[in-house]
Amino acid sequence: MDRRLEVVPCGYSKQIESGLKILRIKRFFLCQCNWIRTILVAFCRNKFFSLNQVVNTSVSGTLLLGPGPCNVSENVLEALSRPLFGHLDPRFLEVMESVKSQLRTVFDTENSVTFPISATGSAGMEFLLANFLEPGDTIVVGVNGVFGGRVASLSEKLGARVVKVEQEWGRAIDLNEFRDTIRREYPKVAALVSGETSTGVYQPMNGVGDVCRETGTLLFMDCVTSLAGMPVHVDKCGADIVFSGTQKCLGVPPGLAPVTVSPRALEVYRNRSKPTPSFYFDLDAILSYIDGDGGRSYHHTAPISMVFALDAGLKEILEEGLESRWNRHARAAEYLRSEMVAYGFEPVVPEGERLNPLTTLYLPDGVNDAEARSKLLMEHGIEVGAGLGPLAGKIWRIGLMAGNACETSVDWLTEALKSVLS
Ligand code: PLP
Repeated sequence: MDRRLEVVPCGYSKQIESGLKILRIKRFFLCQCNWIRTILVAFCRNKFFSLNQVVNTSVSGTLLLGPGPCNVSENVLEALSRPLFGHLDPRFLEVMESVKSQLRTVFDTENSVTFPISATGSAGMEFLLANFLEPGDTIVVGVNGVFGGRVASLSEKLGARVVKVEQEWGRAIDLNEFRDTIRREYPKVAALVSGETSTGVYQPMNGVGDVCRETGTLLFMDCVTSLAGMPVHVDKCGADIVFSGTQKCLGVPPGLAPVTVSPRALEVYRNRSKPTPSFYFDLDAILSYIDGDGGRSYHHTAPISMVFALDAGLKEILEEGLESRWNRHARAAEYLRSEMVAYGFEPVVPEGERLNPLTTLYLPDGVNDAEARSKLLMEHGIEVGAGLGPLAGKIWRIGLMAGNACETSVDWLTEALKSVLS
């Protein structure tokens, strides 16, 4: 089978490709004859041909294969360095409108309230919970890792009654149990994490939206790691309040949290008994800036450069096509798993529940987690993520996100592992 992956037209991938070419030439010669090997070893001792030097000279940075951020393309970097407009300048507002419209396509929604919150993914979570929960409201939360846990604890802080549907780490939430709990509790909100980055699980959503409609519940979805890396269909699955983050499969630095809010959720918001107890996250106040009808009023100063970067990242996604992008992430994850098994790594998540942008693997026996990750980073310029909670020290979390979701990233990692694990 031809396992070569299409490398997206992203400058970073091309740079990795050229680094890999040098490595392949080196490997070829190393395998050919002893006398060449002897000379090359001498060169290596002088750090002349070392992988480290390839990283520094060809890529001049770190290959970010952790749970995010990932490397971003030259287009996105260029957008970040563009001269600024004022945040109320019509030319900037045009860029903001372009971002909102492209986000609708990526979320697969008609929701007019779709825009980026000016802060990281966690702010997207807090914005949604602060506006759509009031003290005493009930929320049913699927908890099978760090981020479901974060939704639960933040909801508690906001005074909500939290009903958890728990699952062991590394498995998807049991939807029969989740749907039954919604039917029993009639909660205001039901929350699921679409891509649980702490464990590498992709959560199916089958039928949850329908049950939420039966019970008058708002369906909350955390799509930080799944958006643009795996199918996310906000309207089709009946999700009402959804957020993401820019630093994963959107291929943009951390700093914005795209959100989308359904008309049904807006109605619930309008019927709050008290105003949202927050200045920064107050939906109506933000809309007075984000929604242009009748002029825009100042709420906070939008992070102009990050909005330029998100616009550039979204354009790349739509040029590639969402489905092609999901398929590329799937092929890259499949290639990673097949290569890593040869080094003694074992997948944590069973087939059918795996999150392609973030693969979790049990370490082979005898490998010191911290030492191996540190060598990868400091000697080979490659970052991978550690396990969290009960999986700390036992697994690695390897992200193949945005432009990094290609065979080249995997080849570079496995090439480095040969020396790290020897
Ligand atoms: N939700 C998930 C699934 C995440 O992976 C993350 C971050 O990794 C967050 C929420 C929080 O996002 P941030 O770290 O950008 O605040």
